[in-house]
Amino acid sequence: MSSPPPEANEPIQRVSFPAFPFVNTPGQTDIILRTSDGVDFYVQLAILSLVSPVFETMFTLPQAEDPSQIYPVIDVQETSPVLDRVLRFFYPCTQLTVDSLDELKEVIEILITKYDMQWLIPSVKKHLERYVASDPITVYVFAYMHGWEDLGRAAAKETLKLPLRASDDDTPEMLTLIPADAYHKLLRYHYRCSVAARQTTTDLSWISLPQASTAAYRWFDCRQSSCTAYNSPRGPIVVASKARLVRHWFMEYFVGMGDILASTPAADVRDPAHPLFIRKIDKANECDYCRDRVSNHLGHFTGLWAARIQTVIQEIEWKF
Ligand SMILES: [Zn+2]
Repeated sequence: MSSPPPEANEPIQRVSFPAFPFVNTPGQTDIILRTSDGVDFYVQLAILSLVSPVFETMFTLPQAEDPSQIYPVIDVQETSPVLDRVLRFFYPCTQLTVDSLDELKEVIEILITKYDMQWLIPSVKKHLERYVASDPITVYVFAYMHGWEDLGRAAAKETLKLPLRASDDDTPEMLTLIPADAYHKLLRYHYRCSVAARQTTTDLSWISLPQASTAAYRWFDCRQSSCTAYNSPRGPIVVASKARLVRHWFMEYFVGMGDILASTPAADVRDPAHPLFIRKIDKANECDYCRDRVSNHLGHFTGLWAARIQTVIQEIEWKF
């Protein structure tokens, strides 16, 4: 009876262990690491002794005799796929083969905590940096556990793109690994950044108008009767030392983005796909005067605004 054909997308061939260079190469390998699932990895004792004080100690202890083997055998707790990834982090003629942050975390814990390869920390951080954008909380937790403040800072900054304090989010599982005050510090940083970012929509002293009259922002000097002025609940809007009758379409976007910055301090105010951005363009296009230069002026303004948000966030202190 023949076996059924593989399903579409099903991996047809799996890596079998040991794979090169952990195969028996007479003259080049002199010790065996035997995994918990019974696979023998042939390695060079000199390399392992050089990279890890734990391996070095391990090899000086008497090993169990195995008459079927030509080399001494060291039993390790790792499974064959895990040991393969661990060895490929530092072994010559290899490349790291991790497919996810979970795999990387596991390998790092073994290398740094179990085998005490402190010299690998700069390299480990570089690998973790690849996941800062996609999973900043996990990287933050990992950085905290190891006291890596530079990586923690990068991850904390990346959380500013998330509504971290939204009450309807599930609690990330990784947070159970750090004390409450460590996470509270992150939340406090996030909150302070959100206050500072939102303040760019209430304290307008950072706005300087372009010098050339042809480049003056249209929403500040439009007087078309059909283009409604914003009725500010907080009194006159002062920009560049002058009270302005700012157009409603602009303030709807500006105030709306301020609300978003209050929950997501590093939200991209230049995102052309954001509903508020699309709506403001549509509204500006309804006015003959505003429509004339709206794309050019908004591009200039939002560029300055994004830079201002970055500046105020940079001024907020963060540390573990
Ligand atoms: Zn107008």
